[in-house]
Amino acid sequence: MRILTGLQPSGKLHVGNYFGAMEPAVRLQDEGEAFYFIANYHAMTTVKNPDELRAYTRELAIDFLAAGLDPERSTFFLQSSVPEVNELAWILSNVCPVSQLEKAHSYKDKIAHGFSPQHGLFAYPVLMAADILLYDTNCVPVGKDQKQHLEITRDLAGKINEAYGEGTLVIPEPMIREATGVVPGLDGQKMSKSYNNTLPLFADPAEVKKLIMKKLVTDATPLEDPKPKEGSTLLALYRLMAKDEDVAAMEADYDRGGIGYGDFKKRLLEAYLERFEPMRLRREELLADPGYVDQVLAKGAEKARAAAAPVIDRVRKAVGLA
Ligand code: ATP
Ligand code: MG
Repeated sequence: MRILTGLQPSGKLHVGNYFGAMEPAVRLQDEGEAFYFIANYHAMTTVKNPDELRAYTRELAIDFLAAGLDPERSTFFLQSSVPEVNELAWILSNVCPVSQLEKAHSYKDKIAHGFSPQHGLFAYPVLMAADILLYDTNCVPVGKDQKQHLEITRDLAGKINEAYGEGTLVIPEPMIREATGVVPGLDGQKMSKSYNNTLPLFADPAEVKKLIMKKLVTDATPLEDPKPKEGSTLLALYRLMAKDEDVAAMEADYDRGGIGYGDFKKRLLEAYLERFEPMRLRREELLADPGYVDQVLAKGAEKARAAAAPVIDRVRKAVGLA
């Protein structure tokens, strides 16, 4: 079984990325052949400054390794190391109805958040389909926000197979953990690098404290009253990070009343610090050894190119390019 997922170097990684995609990806490393990549072409849809793109790319590589990606067990590479992905995207473009892209939630969300409606952003799901299909991927661990993109991927692969022969492309299955769903950001909307509402995966504890205490939204329920659990961003984040018994205690305290959000926020901070401490330490080691990261990505690029070559060959022949 081939497993593949990608993360965009579009800003600092956040706990939504971790629980939605990275943690499942790390766990799946032993279940099959894992291909994990840094989606730097995709990031160009929102990151326009080259130095920034380079810096985010490097940081993401370090952070994913710190989160448990093991380059001995996985192929870890930059999307741009295998430019054939653009060729496959072009081929897919020719079976993709514009109306399908017009319906994409993520495109509409980005536009609603003020990003200009460029073709790259619009065509994002086609490139994403190519990312997946270029490696004969079977399983794609992603967050719930990617569900529709995965449906588009499956649909485009089906159209290619119908037009050019069964078996031209492998149809992938999404792996979406319903429990994680869409991790809410500090403002209650989907946590997103480009929405400036994140709880970063790696940040100075003082900064995290400030974000939780000052920016995390809560409602105006008086201290003595029971707090609504439904729709509580604070509780949703706590459920992801804290131990089961601590979650049960906090839920009971929500129901009981008499405890304010300030206290709950302190508990969230503690859970966050404890949960990510081992990863923070590993990250410090990686930061001190930049040559190692380059070496990992160079080796990953080679392995990824070798895996993509027979697929793009097969597709070229099928569609009449070779
Ligand atoms: P951007 O704002 O640039 O789109 P992002 O924060 O949405 O960035 P991506 O790189 O687009 O992050 O997504 C990487 C992975 O993280 C995807 O599998 C995506 O489903 C997952 N993910 C992103 N945000 C969340 C979230 N809030 N909850 C759960 N999973 C998420
Ligand atoms: Mg996204």
